[in-house]
Amino acid sequence: MSGRAQAGQLVLKVIESWGVKRIYGLPGGSFDSMMNALYLERDNIEFIQVRHEEAGALAAAAEAKLTGRIGVTFGSSGPGAVHLINGMYDAREDHVPMLALVGQVPTRFMNTDYFQAMDEEPIFADVAVFNRTATTAEGLPKLIDEAIRQAYTHKGVSVVTIPKDLAWTEIDDAVPTSAPYWRTPLLPQPDPAAIRDALDVLSTAKAPLLYFGVGAKHAREELIELSDKLKLPMVSTHPAKGIVEDSHPAFLGSAGRVATKPAVEAGANADVILWVGNDIPFAQVVANPEAKIIQVDIDPAKFGKRLPLVVPIQADAKATLRALIDASEEAVPTAFYRASLANKRNWEEWIASFSSDARTPLRPEPIFDIVNEQAGPDDVFLVDVGNVNINFARLAHLLPTNKWSTSGKHATMGYAVPASLAAKREYPDATVYSLSGDGGFAMLNEEILTQVKYHLPVINVVFSNRTLGFIEAEQRDDSHQPLSGVDLIDADWAKVGEGMGALGFTVNTLDEAREAFAAAKAADRPSVIDVNLTGDMPLTTMYMHLSEHDDPAAVAEFQAKYEAQPLKALDYWLEQESAAE
Ligand code: FAD
Repeated sequence: MSGRAQAGQLVLKVIESWGVKRIYGLPGGSFDSMMNALYLERDNIEFIQVRHEEAGALAAAAEAKLTGRIGVTFGSSGPGAVHLINGMYDAREDHVPMLALVGQVPTRFMNTDYFQAMDEEPIFADVAVFNRTATTAEGLPKLIDEAIRQAYTHKGVSVVTIPKDLAWTEIDDAVPTSAPYWRTPLLPQPDPAAIRDALDVLSTAKAPLLYFGVGAKHAREELIELSDKLKLPMVSTHPAKGIVEDSHPAFLGSAGRVATKPAVEAGANADVILWVGNDIPFAQVVANPEAKIIQVDIDPAKFGKRLPLVVPIQADAKATLRALIDASEEAVPTAFYRASLANKRNWEEWIASFSSDARTPLRPEPIFDIVNEQAGPDDVFLVDVGNVNINFARLAHLLPTNKWSTSGKHATMGYAVPASLAAKREYPDATVYSLSGDGGFAMLNEEILTQVKYHLPVINVVFSNRTLGFIEAEQRDDSHQPLSGVDLIDADWAKVGEGMGALGFTVNTLDEAREAFAAAKAADRPSVIDVNLTGDMPLTTMYMHLSEHDDPAAVAEFQAKYEAQPLKALDYWLEQESAAE
């Protein structure tokens, strides 16, 4: 026999029916009726009270990136709604499902220039795949179910705006959920003719490369097997780091600016590129413009979007890689393959030469060395936006069991600390690191309060170099202009952390770093480790001068600037390997 329940409570029951465990947000008056529902449902769904709605939306986006499950966030009408929008774009740009519940003034006050009232649908029109305002209490739970299905189907953000009075209204207590019937979309299988075409093109190559993105995240074994069989060095996009372990000898890292030297040089010199589940916006920079591209993607809208192709294969990455493995003959290693692996070894030896470097202000290598040493296979890393992406990409040694995320394409600063809330709640036994520059950390560090409130012992690392380093390098190297607006005043971030109830560590020396990281790992509360980092920029992979065929003065200047004397350009290794043939 059916009973009665508040529509807001049924909203939550529908959300729960989709397996959602928690919801991030900050109450405001227009959301009181939904807060009442959260109170009634407190045994079934956890409310995480963040201190800024943007952080709640970023935490929900991070939860979706880490788990594949829809992230849920809310904000009240007016400012709460507006604050959500940056986190929504983060979810949209990294293609993860999100549900945002947005408060609205009671229906009788809507459209009358009321306090904190605004027409909310237009502001979410661009970011959302589904964007509706509830008009009746009876229809509200069903609307939520529709919003969740749309978010999963389109890998994007659904917004449901809820006028305050509707969520309080009692309605029939049936839970209108379609969750039991949801099926993940079937993945297209490769056409055998396209597989033959791809292998024909690959068989003509002197310098073939396997360049994969997040679309290959479920295909680690196939990537490695195909790389080994056809002797293809592997390069990934930045967010695809960790799919193949960093220690794999043929995995060169990512290309572009957030990049390693061997990966950039491999992309620039490859003559055929097998481009798998990869939609890097910098495709024209990272691939040799003369290279023949074989693109594998499940989405037909991606073919030729970034680069001209010779073979488009509309199919799942894993199935396609398997079909290529099955249909191919073992290849002999090319000079390009052997040179790329030697180039990686040379790069790693150069990085390792700084791992015990005790110069102050500190270089990033010894700090990551400490993290690599103490990190376990299940540890989780949340990476902010800026030079920290470059250092993480180059210096963190990930295993496929490690989890990590950043704000990949939206690239919003302030990502790491909010994202750590989701990571530590979801993986309580893992050590969780938020890694930020002092620019990114300044933006949303109030969420240390949330870490403290919910007993989330996250290790928050702040790499303080007192500049917006990524932009400083861009202004200097790309735009060739005087530095403008990038300098940052320093703050005592350890004290800021302490003021919010975390442990605070100021790290000026390598010994202090070792002590701080050990103490933070052992602690049962959050910590903030403020590392006094060098203001020197990471070696640029965009404008390298290391080749013997380069202007010797430019090489000498580049080597001196980055202490890069031991680094050899790929053409050095190619000449060595060609001579050995
Ligand atoms: P997505 O954009 O998610 O694309 C994945 C692709 O896989 C899509 O085309 C999708 O249709 C397809 N796909 C999905 N499932 C499957 C399947 N089953 N089979 C086949 N295909 C599938 N990244 C770099 O690499 N280099 C840089 O220099 C760089 N600089 C950055 C700088 C900063 C400060 C930041 C924060 C990020 C930077 N990034 C960089 C990241 C970059 O902005 C993008 O986020 C990234 O390139 C996107 O990676 P992706 O193409 O792998 O993922």
